[in-house]
Amino acid sequence: MGKPTGFLEFKKEYLQKIAPNERIKNYKEFEKSFPDDTAKQQGARCMDCGIPFCHGDTGCPVDNLIPEFNDFVFKGRWKEAWENLSKTNNFPEFTGRLCPAPCESACTLGIIEPPVSIKAIERTIVDRAWDEGWVIPEPASKKSGKKIAVIGSGPAGLACGQQLARAGHSVTIFEKNDRIGGLLRYGIPDFKMEKRHIDRRMKQMEAEGVIFKTNVNVGKDISTKQLQADFDAIVLACGSEVPRDLPLPGRELKGVHFAMEFLGKNNKYVAGDQLEIISAKDKHVIVIGGGDTGSDCVGTSNRHGAKSITQIELFPEPPKERDSSTPWPLYPKMYRTSTSHEEGVNRKWAISTLGFKGNEKGELTSIYGTEVKEENGKLVPVPGTEFEWPADLVLLAMGFVNPIRDGLLEDLIQEGMELDPRGNVKASFGTKPGSFATSLPKVYACGDVRRGQSLIVWAISEGRKCAEQVHQFLTQEVEV
Ligand SMILES: Cc1cc2nc3c(=O)[nH]c(=O)nc-3n(C[C@H](O)[C@H](O)[C@H](O)COP(=O)(O)OP(=O)(O)OC[C@H]3O[C@@H](n4cnc5c(N)ncnc54)[C@H](O)[C@@H]3O)c2cc1C
Ligand code: SF4
Repeated sequence: MGKPTGFLEFKKEYLQKIAPNERIKNYKEFEKSFPDDTAKQQGARCMDCGIPFCHGDTGCPVDNLIPEFNDFVFKGRWKEAWENLSKTNNFPEFTGRLCPAPCESACTLGIIEPPVSIKAIERTIVDRAWDEGWVIPEPASKKSGKKIAVIGSGPAGLACGQQLARAGHSVTIFEKNDRIGGLLRYGIPDFKMEKRHIDRRMKQMEAEGVIFKTNVNVGKDISTKQLQADFDAIVLACGSEVPRDLPLPGRELKGVHFAMEFLGKNNKYVAGDQLEIISAKDKHVIVIGGGDTGSDCVGTSNRHGAKSITQIELFPEPPKERDSSTPWPLYPKMYRTSTSHEEGVNRKWAISTLGFKGNEKGELTSIYGTEVKEENGKLVPVPGTEFEWPADLVLLAMGFVNPIRDGLLEDLIQEGMELDPRGNVKASFGTKPGSFATSLPKVYACGDVRRGQSLIVWAISEGRKCAEQVHQFLTQEVEV
């Protein structure tokens, strides 16, 4: 522990941000990593408590060694901080920008004071490591001769592929989209994370021997049987892409879209592709759903120049402070304001949509619904609160139900691969032998395709742990 009195001397600091009215003029990232001195002071706030709840079950899903890197930062030993961080997290620049930081809600200092700025410190370490040239390819010194196909290039597939390549295996990552990155690329907007971060990791991984094959939809462009014949192991890291729909009267109207149609096209446009986007300019936008996806729709609509943006959520407004149902060190149920919310939105809670109305051309003109309240554990309409609001664009951002059951999964299901009751690929999570193995020989699954819609940090954690299992399976085979 660097400074025993650090948490008494220094207040929590936040990353500096460009003001909302300035930053919505473009899609660039608007937060800056900490300057050196601030990072040192923030690292000094860590109490190195006996049981670091910030990692372990309640904290960081990739098991970052947080008190240790905080101490290195406090002492200005940046290279060691980087070496420490890179032991547990393949892509701290993704999590340092995008993670909801369960580590911070589990931080012991958080009981009496704002917690240590762990996520900002993580980001500052990795940004510095890239600037200093410390992030370099780490190719394996010995090759195993084993071939692995990873299907999907989101954070789970990338982490799994990188770990396996570093262990000496030949890894090919197949991606049906034209660029790699999964939801990092075609879900999350550039203002939350610029895509150069993915591109330079792709270069690093190529230098480590990973082969990327984009525009290849496994199960359609290459048969699943062919893949099973050509590779010693297959890892499904293909995400959970079926969006939750709202099949209400008027759903078919022009102007009602899934959030991912809106966000995906916009990210391609920002990347320089020539295509027609779904524009929110001068429109009354209604975003249905209060999570990350909904928030990204708000930020993007503000950048388009929407006339008004309303975000509605079915559930009642959460409490401003940690709810008693989620005491420390659990991730708290509470009201959250994202950076996109700071840029301007009208948020409404306990709203049930009943339908959409349109004009004679089939274009959306309004949305109607009612307020609801909780009664005997159910949400029931509040009489007299029925409303109709003007709407030119409705974005459905109510999460994802399960993976797409098209060619790839359908083929494997035909062969006997089991799904869990929620429709995700059935495989257990953990470090015990057999974890991540599906019910088919040599086929593994990790990330959202196994866990259901989740977080980047969980996808990285799953990818790493799955790689360990695949490695054990392949190396045991070698020994036999
Ligand atoms: C809009 C949005 C914003 C989000 N924001 C955040 C955030 O701020 N913080 C956070 O922690 N999490 C966020 N999430 C969640 C996070 O992005 C996901 O949990 C994470 O990306 C899951 O990683 P994955 O690798 O399992 O799957 P994905 O990222 O979904 O990647 C799966 C990849 O597999 C490919 N694929 C699928 N089938 C095939 C096939 N047959 N052949 C070839 N390729 C295939 C897909 O094209 C895709 O590229 C957000 C999600 C969305 C939708
Ligand atoms: S990855 Fe997320 S949980 Fe882990 S240290 Fe970083 S911000 Fe915290």
